[in-house]
Amino acid sequence: MSPFSSPRVVVSERGAERARAGHPWIYRSDVVETHASAGDIVRVVGPRGRRLGEALYSDRSQITLRLLTHGEHAAGRDLLRERLAAAIAFRQRLGIDATAYRLVHAEGDLLPSLVVDRYGDWLVLQTLSQGTDRLLPALTEMLVELCAPAGILARNDPRARLLEGLEQKVEVVHGSVPETVVIRDRDVEVEVDLWKGQKTGLFLDQRENRDAAAGYARGRLLDVFSYQGAFALRLARQCEEVVAVEMSEEAAARIERNRERNGLSSVRVHTANAFDVLRELERAGERFDAIVLDPPAFAKNRASLPRALGGYKEINLRALKLLRPGGTLVTCSCSYHLSEGMLLRIVEEAARDAHAGLSLLEKRMQSRDHPVLLGVPETAYLKYLILRKLA
Ligand code: SAH
Repeated sequence: MSPFSSPRVVVSERGAERARAGHPWIYRSDVVETHASAGDIVRVVGPRGRRLGEALYSDRSQITLRLLTHGEHAAGRDLLRERLAAAIAFRQRLGIDATAYRLVHAEGDLLPSLVVDRYGDWLVLQTLSQGTDRLLPALTEMLVELCAPAGILARNDPRARLLEGLEQKVEVVHGSVPETVVIRDRDVEVEVDLWKGQKTGLFLDQRENRDAAAGYARGRLLDVFSYQGAFALRLARQCEEVVAVEMSEEAAARIERNRERNGLSSVRVHTANAFDVLRELERAGERFDAIVLDPPAFAKNRASLPRALGGYKEINLRALKLLRPGGTLVTCSCSYHLSEGMLLRIVEEAARDAHAGLSLLEKRMQSRDHPVLLGVPETAYLKYLILRKLA
C-alpha cells in the first residue's frame, strides 16, 4: 500500500528531461522511487521534488509511466472524458466516407495505451497497459455516453498485454457484438470478424491510402498480401481485372465472400505464398498495370532488420519486373524499424536491378484517424509510396 494519500513516482533527471521534452513515456531505468500500485494514476515528480505531471503507472512494463498531463494538470476522469470527446469530434470533422475508422489512436490522441475503433454501430477497444485496463469500466461508460454503440468488444488479445502482466482476452463489455458485422468503405461493403480478424478486424490505417491508390490504378491490378481484399475490392470497379494474393485461407475466403457481396466478379483470388506467386507470375510472363505490395511487418524488431531488408527487396524487384511501363507500384512497410528512407533505397536498388526507371509520385503514412504524436517516432510506423514505372 502506498503510504501517501495519492500515489507518486519519483524519476531521475533524465526521466524529468524526457517528460519536459514532451515524450509521454518514462522507462523503468529512469524511475528512482515508487509509491504506487499497478495501474494507478500517479503524480510524477522530478529529483528535486518538482511536479512533472500525472501518468498511468505500470509495475511490470519497461514503460513504467505513460504521461497523461504535464506540469500541475491533474489527470482525472473529466480529463479522460474530454480527450475521448475531442478524439471523436476530430474524426467527425475529417469527412470520412466510411463506417469503419479509428476513433482513438492512443498516444496520437493523448490517450496512451488506448485504442478505439468504430465498425458501424459497434466499437472495438483495446486497453494495452495496466492503467487503461483498470479504467476499462469507466472508459466503456464514457464511450456509451458519447457514441451510443450497439455493443463494445474489448479486443484485448494483443501480445503487448503480456508485457504488462495482463491476460489476453476478448470480451463484450457493453451490449452485444455479432460474429460478423458489415461495414462500408465508400461504395464497397465488407464483412468483418471483430472477434478474430487481424488487428481489430480490418487494416483501418490504410483507408486513405486506398483512396490515394484509386487515383492511379487501372487495367490489370495485382494486390499482394491482400488480407480480406481491401485494396482489391476498393480498386476493382476502375480496373479490368484484379488478382488478389493472400496466404491465409480464412482471409482469402472472406475476399471471395466480399467479392460476391459487391458483385465484383473481376476479382480472382490466389490462396498462396506471395513469394511463390510473384515468381510464378514472372515465369509465366504475366504483366500488370498496377501492383500493390502491403506485406506484414517483416522486421518485428531491430535484430530481424537485415533479413527483412532482403524480403522487401525481393518483392519490390519482382513486382517491378511484372509491371508494364507506365504502370503504378504501390509499396508499403509497417515495420517501425524500417524508415521511409530505407524503403526508398530498397525500391531504388530494386529498380536498378530490374533496369527500370521509376518516378516517385506520393509519400504517405497511416490515415489521419491514426495521428502521429510529434516527437514520438514510435507512433509513426506505416510508410507508403506510390511510384510510376517509366520504362
Ligand atoms: N492489404 C491488406 C493488409 C495486409 S496485412 C489490407 O489493406 O487490408 C498482410 C497480409 O499478408 C495478412 O493478411 C497475412 O495473412 C498475409 N501474408 C503474410 N505473409 C504472406 C505471404 N508470404 N504470402 C501471402 N500472404 C501473406
